[in-house]
Amino acid sequence: MTAEDNSMTSTTKTSHSHLDWEYAPAPESAAIGRLRERYQMYIGGRFVDGRGDDVKTINPANEEALATVSTASTADVDLAVAAARTAYDDVWSRTSPAERGKYLYRIARGIAERARELAVVETLDNGKPIKESRDVDVPTASAHFFYHAGWADKLQHAGFGPAPASLGVAGQVIPWNFPLLMAAWKIAPALAAGNTVVIKPAETTPLSILVLAEIIADADLPPGVVNIITGAGDIGAALVNHPGIDKVAFTGSTDVGKLIQSSLAGTGRKITLELGGKAANIIFDDAPVDQAVEGIVNGIFFNQGHVCCAGSRLLVQESIADEVNEKLQARIATLRLGDPMDKNTDIGAINSSSQLATIRSLTDTGESEGAQRWTSPCPIPDRGFYFPPTVFTRVSQSMRIAREEIFGPVLSVLTFRTPDEAVAKANNTPYGLSAGVWTEKGSRILGMANSLRAGVVWANTFNRFDPTAAFGGYKESGFGREGGRSGLGAYLNTDDDAVPAPAVTSASRQQASADESRSGSDEALATAAAELSAAAALDDARAVVEQADQSDDDVTGQSAQSYAAGGQSESRLSVTKTYKLYVGGAFPRSESGRTYPATGGIDGSIKANIAQGSRKDARDAVVAARKAFKGWSGTTAYNRGQVIYRIAEMLEGRRAQFVDLLGGRGEDGVAVDAAIDRLVHYAGWTDKLAAVFGGANPVAGPFFSFSTPEPTGVVAAIAPQQDPLLGLVSVVAPIITSGNSVVVIAAQHQPLAAVTLAEVLATSDLPGGVVNILTGDPAEIAPHLAAHGDVNALDLTGTDGQLRTDLERAAAGTVKRVHAPVAQDFSRNPGTARLRAFLEIKTVWHPTGAVSLAGGTGY
Ligand code: NDP
Repeated sequence: MTAEDNSMTSTTKTSHSHLDWEYAPAPESAAIGRLRERYQMYIGGRFVDGRGDDVKTINPANEEALATVSTASTADVDLAVAAARTAYDDVWSRTSPAERGKYLYRIARGIAERARELAVVETLDNGKPIKESRDVDVPTASAHFFYHAGWADKLQHAGFGPAPASLGVAGQVIPWNFPLLMAAWKIAPALAAGNTVVIKPAETTPLSILVLAEIIADADLPPGVVNIITGAGDIGAALVNHPGIDKVAFTGSTDVGKLIQSSLAGTGRKITLELGGKAANIIFDDAPVDQAVEGIVNGIFFNQGHVCCAGSRLLVQESIADEVNEKLQARIATLRLGDPMDKNTDIGAINSSSQLATIRSLTDTGESEGAQRWTSPCPIPDRGFYFPPTVFTRVSQSMRIAREEIFGPVLSVLTFRTPDEAVAKANNTPYGLSAGVWTEKGSRILGMANSLRAGVVWANTFNRFDPTAAFGGYKESGFGREGGRSGLGAYLNTDDDAVPAPAVTSASRQQASADESRSGSDEALATAAAELSAAAALDDARAVVEQADQSDDDVTGQSAQSYAAGGQSESRLSVTKTYKLYVGGAFPRSESGRTYPATGGIDGSIKANIAQGSRKDARDAVVAARKAFKGWSGTTAYNRGQVIYRIAEMLEGRRAQFVDLLGGRGEDGVAVDAAIDRLVHYAGWTDKLAAVFGGANPVAGPFFSFSTPEPTGVVAAIAPQQDPLLGLVSVVAPIITSGNSVVVIAAQHQPLAAVTLAEVLATSDLPGGVVNILTGDPAEIAPHLAAHGDVNALDLTGTDGQLRTDLERAAAGTVKRVHAPVAQDFSRNPGTARLRAFLEIKTVWHPTGAVSLAGGTGY
């Protein structure tokens, strides 16, 4: 069988023939799997017994026990983490990158050499058809090791700055649907990036990864670099919560993903989550219907539908719905369900009795909610866990079968009339892992790919995977990517703080200090910079006083007021200003009606009342930010850059005013200059993001694939309490650079720079609602943002301690992305961590040439 034959093309009978075609059984031999009676765990380079209870792993195709597997106790988790730590400290972190790469090559080769055995083991333990394990799971697993082997000595070229560093020990938990492949997706990038690993497979599918352990041992990988522990969810929980772990990578259900995100709140540990999905497969009336039908079948029945990115919601344009349904049912009726070891089998066994029970229960709900059920008339074996291919029509969006992940061979069919309706329905889900589009129109493909909030979009194809192409979700499908450069980034420390840079000053004013920096110490540089800025601040202050009366731009007039020596009458009582919030481009009062006093300027000479934001203000700001997101994210990169440059220009024009608001000291001048320069820095990033973080993926097979960064959505941020202007700008600018909108809580006790910046923004070209500035107590406002269902991400730069932990925990409720850096020195040039924190990587695939349904992997 060639790779092209793999898309479930076997046909049992041809109805238009007089001959009764039937395939003879073509079973693969179970003996090739060389199963042993008992399997041990792999810790510290040795196969060892765990202190948990032995479990029997069964063959779901016939319910017979395959082997006994030793499992871990929590003490064994300690042991495995300790082994990984020792291996990291003593060996792996000191192994040269090129050598690391060679170990990965060895593992890749080992998988290829034992491919047939691995395919058999996988099929026996998991229940998936042998043709899938053989043509997809095993070769793709090997390809992942090959791909990452090549990265090991090229990490500095991966786009994460000049010195990306390993994280330490990674704790990884994987599910049962692609046991070997998920192991490869996790282990290969971790090792390439220089980390060591403790990994736990699902309790029901431990065998293939334990064969992989033998391959790893045969490759002479240093002991402890990869540790494999077996057990159930409690061992997974013990692993991800272990204090000795530096990074957690999880693939599995969204519920467990939320639990993990919540339990890791406040630990500062890096997490990636690859969770569930409810993908829409969208068929337009100009699609090549026969090929689309093959794509629908592949999309939902590949691996019995146990695929997080399965095309489980079919959206068909109304005018061709009947035709598609008819052809689909005829095609599905030809799928062969049965012995997964038979090379002709299309649909194998459901992995466990509990998963079978879940599928039954959800499909029963479908019927009771009024959908119409059609079941393939295929025979079902007497023993084993099987569920026949099932299609529901007359499905409405509110039904559970249209909303929840069934994780089985069950398709829900909905219809649409217009492309906009298709997009609205496709995106109407908390998930966002994948989507399919079938149409002959190139412009429609790209338009749909752009509008679908999903991490992978397959156009005129489905279920393509490649190590070079990033894979991962939007929204509650999780965060982080696997594969490609972005996947590698999940295992590297690329914190902005790690990027050294000269002290920040604007070039013209700081020439002298730059000269100084070449010959002197950092301290001398800082002093020089401060002196220069102080002098500049005074010069500018005088200029501002002179211009104050005529300046149209001077919204507050406060700069003039505060320079008492420059003209303020000593007897005059100044007007105390009340600052409002900045929401949706307007300045509303706080709904709470409360204000608090703040001062600024030399000797606190500026007095103002500041609005104290409340829950309702937070909600209004999110609504405004969501409204603005569509336009801002759709603005061209060039225009976004121009808008941000213009804000820098406007700040430059008001430099003296801001220096004064901050306190009028030399260091305040330095901070204002740095804030201006930071805006210029990010303005220049807008049209570089796609090239630096995206690109073409050289996937195997006749496909064109590219990955492109997209904004995450609405970000809620807490600006740092120190550095009230520079900190605020350093937080907000990278968020809006990529097209996100933001609700930011300003420094509570030094809010004057923020509220004045709001006045600058209001007169700039920035559309209202892109930046919303709230003032008040973060402890009062932020929890409402962190729990808000329409906020996609949090920047917690300005919090620490219990509040930060509480907010991170609240974020887990809707799997929000969280950026919570440990320490920030805003005077340094930023790296890319802040930009990447609020970017999603979307991967798009299209066949080259004719619409292709080629299955297999091309490896
Ligand atoms: P789970 O999320 O329960 O399991 C995934 C992995 O996590 C397994 O290794 C599991 O161990 C482990 N685990 C379970 N609980 C915890 C915990 N509290 N902390 C850490 N690890 C834990 O998925 P299931 O396998 O039970 O499948 C349930 C549903 O999840 C499916 O119906 C499907 O909807 C979805 N799913 C999605 C996948 C995807 O690829 N996105 C993959 C698999 C499932 P163990 O299995 O040994 O209990």
